[in-house]
Amino acid sequence: MRRLVILGSTGSIGVQALEVVAAGDEHEVVALSADHRWEELIAHESSAEQARAAWDGEVLSGPEALAQLISGAEADLVCNAIVGSAGLAATVVALSEGIDLALANKESLVVGGELVIELAAATGARLLPVDSEHSALYQLIASEKGQAPGTIERLTLTASGGPFRGRSRDQLASVTVEEALNHPTWEMGGKISIDSATLMNKGLEVIEAHQLFGTEYSAIDVVVHPQSIIHSMISLSDGSSLAHMGYPDMRVPIAYALHWPERATVDLKPLDLEQLGSLTFEAVDNDAFPCLGLALAAGREGGTAPCVLNAANEVAVAAFLDHRCSFLQIASVIEATLDAVDIEQSYSFETLIESDRAAREAATEQLLAFS
Ligand code: NAD
Ligand code: MG
Repeated sequence: MRRLVILGSTGSIGVQALEVVAAGDEHEVVALSADHRWEELIAHESSAEQARAAWDGEVLSGPEALAQLISGAEADLVCNAIVGSAGLAATVVALSEGIDLALANKESLVVGGELVIELAAATGARLLPVDSEHSALYQLIASEKGQAPGTIERLTLTASGGPFRGRSRDQLASVTVEEALNHPTWEMGGKISIDSATLMNKGLEVIEAHQLFGTEYSAIDVVVHPQSIIHSMISLSDGSSLAHMGYPDMRVPIAYALHWPERATVDLKPLDLEQLGSLTFEAVDNDAFPCLGLALAAGREGGTAPCVLNAANEVAVAAFLDHRCSFLQIASVIEATLDAVDIEQSYSFETLIESDRAAREAATEQLLAFS
């Protein structure tokens, strides 16, 4: 039995992690955390049956609570399914304690970057990505371990294209929150659904891949693949390309991360290629979806730029969800914030907290200027 902590247990990933755990008998859930819908968790009325069954402990709250929860749980594995840069502190605590981390919170890697990777290396904690594309890449890269450096030449991340694939910039001017939340292939929390509609999600994922696998930005490609069957691909020096395939269901990468190095049994129908008929691919429309380019530029700039990008995006997405800005203004807020805030090339966790704060302030000012 592995002692497991699930952070963000009332969210889309958190609930599915509880489902994966309930389907097997390899994990004991020793602590859960939640922000929204926490009352349900305490009232033992969480939407996840398993939360009710698993929970029989004390309740902590306040800013120090997460650190206390992780340190006190004597966990073998922490699943971080918190949304946004609010998840970075939990990542840092888990890795500092040398606890293996199943990481859904991609913002931890976007914001914390090299510091997070160095921390994991220093304590020997293992970082297991939950993001489907990165879980795919992790598996593909593991299959080539032991090959000479340079054997893996390129990484390709697929993007569904989101609900607005095929629309021009003009056609995006008046899209609504409801339309943006309606993702064609994945069911996810609100913030990542909007990120998928703007393609910022893919931008954050390229930065995540760069950090996780140490791959240069020039060797990471993004291709739109509306069916979301191929999750990622690696291209090798001998002309081979290896792809990871499966129906879009987050229980698969969650199960991989929670059960590593074993394979779990997940109750899914086998991939039926005849029924799928065809898989299609197209280029990203960078004019209609400028957020991917903004993220790539921030990633290449490095230092605190990804932190500033992420904070501005969080502020802009929250404003869009709250009907305080339009869909196209999300990218404008991010671009203006990156122009306004000083980027530091060398940084500490303290610098990141300060950059995050400055970026949120600048992004909020931008929003006021628009209204
Ligand atoms: P969600 O909004 O459904 O759930 C977020 C969880 O975090 C909730 O339990 C919420 O209560 C908690 N939370 C929110 N703010 C918090 C704070 N300030 N402090 C502590 N807890 C807080 O989000 P989600 O869709 O499950 O996504 C979670 C993470 O996983 C994100 O980083 C997202 O990018 C990543 N991810 C999600 C999916 C998906 O299919 N949903 C896929 C890949 C990656
Ligand atoms: Mg993903």
